[in-house]
Amino acid sequence: MLRLWNLLTACFLATACLLFSGQLAAMEPCPALDAASPDARSAINHHICFYSARPGEPAHSATAPEDLPAELAWKSARGHDLVFSHTDSVYWIQLNVRNSSTESGLWYPKLHYPLLDEVTFWQKSRYQSGYSPEDVRPPLATGDLFPFATRGIDYRYYLLPVTLNAGESRAILIRVHSSGALNVPLGLMTPGEVVAESNHLTLVHGLFYGAMLVLAAFNLLLFFSSGTRYYFYNAFYIASLGMFLFAMGGFANQYFWPNSTALANLSIPLTLAVCALAMALFGSSFLEVGPGTLSAKALKSLATIAAGAVTVTLIIPYTKSILINTALALVVIVALQVIAYVRWRQGYKPAFWYLAAWMVMVIGALIYAMAAFGYLGDYPAREVMMQAVVGGQVILLNYALVQRWRLLNQKLLDVEHQARTELELKVHERTAQLRNTMRELEQANRKLASISLNDALTGLYNRRHMDNLLPELCREARRTGNPLSLALIDADHFKRINDTWGHDFGDQCLKQIAGILDEHVKRPRDVAIRFGGEEFALLLPGTDLDGARTLCLAILKAMRKTPLIAPGNETFHLTLSAGIAELATGQEPSDLFRKADEALYQAKGAGRDQIVLANRVSTPDQSTASSAN
Ligand code: GH3
Ligand code: MG
Ligand code: MG
Repeated sequence: MLRLWNLLTACFLATACLLFSGQLAAMEPCPALDAASPDARSAINHHICFYSARPGEPAHSATAPEDLPAELAWKSARGHDLVFSHTDSVYWIQLNVRNSSTESGLWYPKLHYPLLDEVTFWQKSRYQSGYSPEDVRPPLATGDLFPFATRGIDYRYYLLPVTLNAGESRAILIRVHSSGALNVPLGLMTPGEVVAESNHLTLVHGLFYGAMLVLAAFNLLLFFSSGTRYYFYNAFYIASLGMFLFAMGGFANQYFWPNSTALANLSIPLTLAVCALAMALFGSSFLEVGPGTLSAKALKSLATIAAGAVTVTLIIPYTKSILINTALALVVIVALQVIAYVRWRQGYKPAFWYLAAWMVMVIGALIYAMAAFGYLGDYPAREVMMQAVVGGQVILLNYALVQRWRLLNQKLLDVEHQARTELELKVHERTAQLRNTMRELEQANRKLASISLNDALTGLYNRRHMDNLLPELCREARRTGNPLSLALIDADHFKRINDTWGHDFGDQCLKQIAGILDEHVKRPRDVAIRFGGEEFALLLPGTDLDGARTLCLAILKAMRKTPLIAPGNETFHLTLSAGIAELATGQEPSDLFRKADEALYQAKGAGRDQIVLANRVSTPDQSTASSAN
């Protein structure tokens, strides 16, 4: 970068030497320009003469034409814009104009460079080798050291109205002194040409600054809505760059501080330092330099230096601050390029577009630097070039931002995808676990239900099941008209068994009874129940009294024939008594139960080991039953 800069500097110095070497020779007084001829006006630089007065010379201290020495060695501009590097000299410029037409007219000698400290225009009736106060009109003294209103015409370039009658000649003398780069590009224009040029430039500048403003505002809005800092720094950078160019173009002096001569001079180095600060801040935020890295430290130092430069610029003279801040801006640009390159090589893709943006900016920086040191004369062309470069850079930077946003978005999508995949896996896992748990729960429930509806000792259904089922079966029987019988069966003299052989043996006997009941109750809908200590019930849907009686006879017979072996190998027989009732029309479950219970009571009363049907007793003979004894 430095080498390239040196090379370019050398080239321009060589060109400048070539351009101005011929002017060393003494020239004849400048040839008069025919203001009425457009061709002559466009070749104005062939008519311009200048004299560079170094400090100490009388012409340097002269503040009016009459103070100039009579014989000055004027030099011709030889067709080139007048461009001088940073210099202490005072420049006297002379242009002789003549109106060859038959009508009077108005022309504007125009100085296309807005940033000059002191510019004084004089008009003199005719050219002579010397000037006397009598024939010099009152001067127009203006420049950045004067309020903007002193320019006479509200325009950022310097315009001097010159009215010439038919055939009239006029000599125009300009004294220029400035502490910065000294560009004195001159033109001679008709009012129409001035308006036309102003219109075109208004469009170009309007578009450019408008776009910059919109982009800065847009980035600021993005910052407010997203809270992402680099949007703020981008807005800051665009705004400071826009401000810098606004100041460079003379607009800031014209519109922001027309009466502040201090700000007129200060604005350029100041906005340049602010630009350097914004570049460093935006760069470190955008390039995501890791904290503690060399890049982060370098950018932090540069940002601190730039912030310092902003302050220092307020104190030190323009000639120094402009040099310091130009150098600082170049250092920041180079540093950002190196860091962007490193970040790109590290695989951070948006850095590529950032780098491209800075490559474009290097061109801009060179244009600016060349202009600052007086190597680029065509001010309007340079301005448009700078605007194109800056516009290109800003667009590329914003494109880099879009790339960065895309990258972040992609990362976010990847994370989301990964999270979703993990979530899906987890959901699958949890669903499987849940299904298992539900199965286990169902099994446990089933077990619980069977426990709650079954008798623990015999495995038959319990009283609760009978209470649930009986009303249901009664409703069904009423609805379908099918018979429903209930048999209550009670072990005879069971207390004796307990008393004789103990409670445990009594339990075994209860199991034996349950086994016999279970063997006989074969129809799928028949239910055997132990509903009390040694009391059992049979719920027989679809079975009438006779059917129930047949079943109970078989049960009583089987019980009677089953020998029970008590402890001590004692054999004995157990008998059962049964009461059976069939559901009659209009009866409730409780009626059915009561009737069966009454029948059982009767069977007991009648001597046990027998069956009684509700409303009729079946005797032991009828039932082929025999006495329990
Ligand atoms: P009855 O012929 O009049 O029915 O005489 P019983 O002795 O069978 O009748 P009672 O109602 O006087 O006695 C029932 C006995 O059944 C009382 C109790 O010792 C016995 N018992 C009730 N529940 C159980 C039980 O779960 N296990 C055992 N081992 N015995 C029981
Ligand atoms: Mg009993
Ligand atoms: Mg009993």
